[in-house]
Amino acid sequence: MSIADNIARLKDEIASAARRANRDPEEIELMAVSKVHPAEVILEAYAAGQRLFGENKVQEFEGKRPLLERLTDAKFHLIGPLQSNKTNKAAGLFDAVDAVDSLKIAERLEKAAKELGKALPVLIEVKLSHEESKHGIPPEELPALLDAMGGFEAVEAVGLMTVPPWSEDAETARPYFRELRRLRDEAVKTHPKLTQLSMGMSNDFAVAIEEGSTCVRVGTAIFGKRIYPEK
Ligand SMILES: *Cc1c(COP(=O)(O)O)cnc(C)c1O
Repeated sequence: MSIADNIARLKDEIASAARRANRDPEEIELMAVSKVHPAEVILEAYAAGQRLFGENKVQEFEGKRPLLERLTDAKFHLIGPLQSNKTNKAAGLFDAVDAVDSLKIAERLEKAAKELGKALPVLIEVKLSHEESKHGIPPEELPALLDAMGGFEAVEAVGLMTVPPWSEDAETARPYFRELRRLRDEAVKTHPKLTQLSMGMSNDFAVAIEEGSTCVRVGTAIFGKRIYPEK
């Protein structure tokens, strides 16, 4: 299967899941997660019509970026954790940061984006499981973080993101997706811009769509298995 075939098949599957949930398929964006893969696969997906991409490391994307200059209408989001010493670089390289997990990072991005004269939409990553390896803010800290970001000029929180514990069984993720939606529904009452829900990956995107996802982040089902270089 080519990348173009995979994208076409996923669009069908996204539309079916949306219809099952009585939702408009147009409400759900497909993000192609190209981390670990070379820039060539991004060009191939772009040629197949894909415009939204996710990368999880600042330095890795910095290396690919020069090869992607002509893709002027493509959007690249940072979906991995951001260290505070990389916020300036991230604000310059990416169109959005989808994994903001502290006020410190949000403030540094705000300062960097303001200096660049650039509007930077962000998602807040919420940690809903107790796994040590997962990133994100505890849900109870969300209201205070959103309030603190209220006076920002360049950075704007437009939604929430989460990564549930990995499981073979997509149903395991459902309660986490449902909880993220509940948090969004609560927070949007006081922060009307907070509409997006980035949730669902290759193995569980259909369940995420049933639970209200507005952006599914799909890597493996588009680009195949990631082969990590040996350390
Ligand atoms: C890698 C990654 C994905 C894509 O995962 P697949 O299972 O390959 O679809 C989605 N979201 C985040 C945050 C990731 O790091």
